[in-house]
Parts: sequence; C-alpha cells; structure tokens
Amino acid sequence: MESRHKLALRPRPDIGFGGPLVASAVPRPPVSAPRRISVMQEPVLVLNATFEPINVTAVRRALVLMLKGVAQAEETNHAEVHSASRAIVVPSVIRLLSYRHIPQQSRALSRKNILLRDRHTCQFCGSAFPASELTLDHVMPRSRGGRSTWENLVACCYTCNNEKGDRTPEEAGLKLQRRPRPFTLHTSRQLMRLIGHRDEKWRKYLFY
Ligand SMILES: [Zn+2]
Repeated sequence: MESRHKLALRPRPDIGFGGPLVASAVPRPPVSAPRRISVMQEPVLVLNATFEPINVTAVRRALVLMLKGVAQAEETNHAEVHSASRAIVVPSVIRLLSYRHIPQQSRALSRKNILLRDRHTCQFCGSAFPASELTLDHVMPRSRGGRSTWENLVACCYTCNNEKGDRTPEEAGLKLQRRPRPFTLHTSRQLMRLIGHRDEKWRKYLFY
C-alpha cells in the first residue's frame, strides 16, 4: 500500500490507481470482478530464468512461449483453455528457461508504451483517462524541430492538447507533471508492482 501511494502522481478516488492502466492497456487479473475480457488477454508475469520479474505479457503470448519450450508456468490460474485435443491450465506467472539479458532500455518507443509510462495520465492536467481519450503530445512541437523521442513525447488529453496547440508548455501556460524519461527496466518494475497488487500469485516475485 505504501509503494502504491508513492507511485501515484495524483490519485483520484473515483478512478483508483491502476484503473485506467489495467482497463485499457493491461487486462484486469481475475480477482473477484466480473470478467470483461478474454482469458487469452489476461496479464501474465514473465520471470527471467533467475526468477527476476522482467515483463508482463498476455496469456496468449505466454502460451506460445510455453508451447515453444521457451518458458514454463510457475503459477497457474483456475481457468483452462481448450485446444482440439487437450485442456491447458492458464498461467499466471511464467519463467524463461534460459537466461535473457535485458538491456536497460528495452522498450520500443510506441504510443502504447508512452501511455503506460505516463500511466494513462495527461502530463499537463494530471488527470487519468482511458487510452481512447489520450493523444501523444510533442512537448517541443514538431513544427519547431521537436523530435519523436521518449524525452519529447507525453500522454496528453485532447483538451490540453488543443489548448497547447503549436506552442511550448511555457508559452501555453502549461506545466509538465514530470520530466519525460525513457521507459527503463525501473519503470517496468513499478508498473509490474502496480499490477501485481491485484494478483496474489505475483506478489512473491515482485515484493522482495
Ligand atoms: Zn489534460
């Protein structure tokens, strides 16, 4: 609970932390809430061969890794998926069978990853939104030479984006919630912990 508050930029009681993140980017783990998404899209924690958490993926991808013999299930879910010939227990945590070196900056620059990094929070007004209500803003506008980089792209709601237009934040009287940084393994860990709060089976790998 403590780390949850530390990580929150501006928690809003009506949304709750992880709400927008879990709803739009990473599916909600099956706790007690009604299942709104396919089992195949539920999140699976990926551990390195050394049991170090390195990523979150979807059940679909986790099953592919298991069938290829690249990973094995460490924790499973109650749900089963059925192929033509057999039932497979859905993994909740998988572990790679051989060690993979994870570069410090392993995330691709993409809209999805920028929204994840910024936790679906507009970096100007600080409010959380579903992914469909967020756009990407070039802090230094492209028309002024601003580039598409981790350091110059932020999640932004349409209202703030319109208000800012082709101006710098200073010119528009807007202030960045925090300086945009690349998505590092540290960022990934923070996100894994946020998601892991909801899934007991993840906790022992995330909180040590
Ligand atoms: Zn905004």
